[in-house]
Amino acid sequence: MEKELVGRGTTKSLKPETLMMGYGYRPEWSEGAVKCPIFQTSTFVFENAQAGKEFFEMAHGTREPGSRGAGLIYSRINNPDLEILEERLTVWDGAEAAAVFESGMAAISTTVMEFLKPGDFLLTSEPIYGGTEHLFEHILHKFGITVLCFGARQTKQQIIDIVEKAGAAKKLGMIFLETPANPTNQLIDIGMCVEIAKHFSTPERTVITALDNTFLGPLYQHPLKFGVDLVLYSATKYIGGHSDVVAGACLGSKPLINRVKSLRNVLGTMAGPWTGWLLMRSLETLKMRMETASRGAMEIAAFLNKHPNVEKVYYLGLIDTKDPQYAIYKKQCLSPGAMISFMIKGGEKEAFRFLDSLKMVKLAVSLGGTESLAEHPAAMTHSNVDPAKRNEFGITDNLVRISVGVEAPEDIIFDIKQALESV
Ligand SMILES: *Cc1c(COP(=O)(O)O)cnc(C)c1O
Repeated sequence: MEKELVGRGTTKSLKPETLMMGYGYRPEWSEGAVKCPIFQTSTFVFENAQAGKEFFEMAHGTREPGSRGAGLIYSRINNPDLEILEERLTVWDGAEAAAVFESGMAAISTTVMEFLKPGDFLLTSEPIYGGTEHLFEHILHKFGITVLCFGARQTKQQIIDIVEKAGAAKKLGMIFLETPANPTNQLIDIGMCVEIAKHFSTPERTVITALDNTFLGPLYQHPLKFGVDLVLYSATKYIGGHSDVVAGACLGSKPLINRVKSLRNVLGTMAGPWTGWLLMRSLETLKMRMETASRGAMEIAAFLNKHPNVEKVYYLGLIDTKDPQYAIYKKQCLSPGAMISFMIKGGEKEAFRFLDSLKMVKLAVSLGGTESLAEHPAAMTHSNVDPAKRNEFGITDNLVRISVGVEAPEDIIFDIKQALESV
């Protein structure tokens, strides 16, 4: 399938949701199979020794790829299920290239390691996903990398001051962002962070910007359009979407993704063919899943917002128009998405009672699946965050997070209502 459909005298560019059915794949490659088959093979036969030599030259970048890509060698280096998936994944974000991984953490750690070296500083927004936090706080220092943090409501000048006061102005290697931030949906101005990266870049040294787009992407937030260099995903969440696969992705320009892929080859963090196939299956319904979940989330957030047992709701669709966060939302988000957090009246006891009383919504971490899930950030996903920091980020003992699925909103509301009443 091509990106354009040629009619009589006219050409139509196809919409992303249409391209998800087959972009990058041709049935004639696989005996006419409508779907790209699973290429469950570790290695590929060369037509002759000269072809094998040329494939290796293409893999090393000393020869230009042929019309059908770089040539298949070995499934750690490339595999049709990964290459076709990667091409398809670039569509939503308007990226030149993508690399897929066996987990979101594999994508994040491989990318960070490729662009940072001993002596460098990494500036990250906070709060961030627990696994990423662990990598930044406890692993990177072993490689001589220092991590600096800033929060969602800090100004451009305040963030620049953090870097300068740390003596990092000439050694800043990367700015890492996660927005909306988990679990309270705090937004960070993407354009502002790109300006900060430019501020500290020199002709010899570019400060790379990377953004974890798991919560709103790839449908509702397109960071590359705001000048971000690399977009990262836990494809376990909305992209996979059925809570049955763990995977990750990194997207950006061809030269940057080639660098990420060459480290991925060496670390062996690539996804396997089965994972690639599952994600292609999932992409076909991505738009309808995300749209249905977001529509449901709006109803559920409105219900929670009026309930007497609920103290406060954190949802992108409920930001006060006078809050500076609202302008950021309008600028960079296309929908409030389907993640809701709320403070139940009381403390941990009441929050636990609510979670234990849910009958249909499942008590589990993770998000972005077809089924609704609820969890307790302070005791679960964010339990490794320092308690003082937890308070600062609003991760209180009475906070509950819900990932809204695609069930009928009225059924989810019925379940939440009965659980709230039993508190
Ligand atoms: C889940 C998640 C990750 C980690 O991804 P895995 O696929 O579990 O390795 C990273 N960032 C965010 C925002 C996540 O929600």
